[in-house]
Amino acid sequence: MSFRTNGRYDLVICDIDGCLSPESHAPINILGLSKIAEHNRRAIQNRDRPVVTLCSGRPIGFVECLCRLIQNTLVPCIGENGVWLWRPADNSFECDPSISDEHLEAVHEARKLLRSLYQSSGVIQQPGKSASVALYHPDTAYLRSIVPTIAEEFQKRNWPIRVSMTWLYINCDLQHINKATAIDRLMIQTGFERERTAGIGDTMGDRFIAERVSWFGCPANSEAEMKGTADYVSPHDEVEGVLDILRELEG
Ligand SMILES: [Mg+2]
Repeated sequence: MSFRTNGRYDLVICDIDGCLSPESHAPINILGLSKIAEHNRRAIQNRDRPVVTLCSGRPIGFVECLCRLIQNTLVPCIGENGVWLWRPADNSFECDPSISDEHLEAVHEARKLLRSLYQSSGVIQQPGKSASVALYHPDTAYLRSIVPTIAEEFQKRNWPIRVSMTWLYINCDLQHINKATAIDRLMIQTGFERERTAGIGDTMGDRFIAERVSWFGCPANSEAEMKGTADYVSPHDEVEGVLDILRELEG
C-alpha cells in the first residue's frame, strides 16, 4: 500500500477510550465521530490530510466497528493492546504471530486464577479478549487496590504478563505485546513512515503510540504524565479534543 498526502502527515494513530469515546459506558458522541468520518472520507478521496486509524486495548470487534463508523476503509486498526490487526481493505484479522501456545496457556491460567481470587468480589473479566485479560469493577478504588497483588501473583508463577491500569480497567497483557509492537507490524505491512505519522492518546498505555510517531497530541482529559510528554494538548475533551488536534495538525 502506498498512501501519500500532500500535507505533512499521512497517518494519525488514535486511541479510542478517552479520545473518540468515553471510557465509561456513557453514549458515544456520534456528531463528533461523524466529523472524524467526514475527515477520513476526504483524506482517502483527496489525499489532502492524514487518515485516522485506531489503536486500542478494546476487543478487536469493538475496534472494527469504530473503524467502520469513522469510514477508515484503508489502514489497518489495532485492538487488544496490540494482539490484533483488522484490515478494513480486505476484512482480514491478524493475531501477532509471535504469540505461542505457551503464551495463550499462561493467559488461560491467569483467567482461572483471577476468577478464583476475585469473582466473588464482583470483578468482571471483559468479554471478547483472546490473548489478554481486562478486569472491571464498578468500584474503581477497589479495582485499583488489587493491582499490586495481581502483579505479584503473576510474578510468583513466572507468567509473562504485564499488569497496568487505565481509568476504569485493569489490563493484563502479554509482556512482549503492546501498542508499539502492533504499530511496527502495521508500518511494515503498509509502508507508512514514522516521520509522517502522528499519534493521539490519553493514558500512559499510549506512550507506546507516542514512541512510534513523530508528533503526539492529547485531549484535555488526559493523564498529567501523558500531557507532559505531548507536542500539543488540546483545551477540549475526548472527540472534540481529537477534532481540535486534527485541525492543529493540518494548520
Ligand atoms: Mg484511552
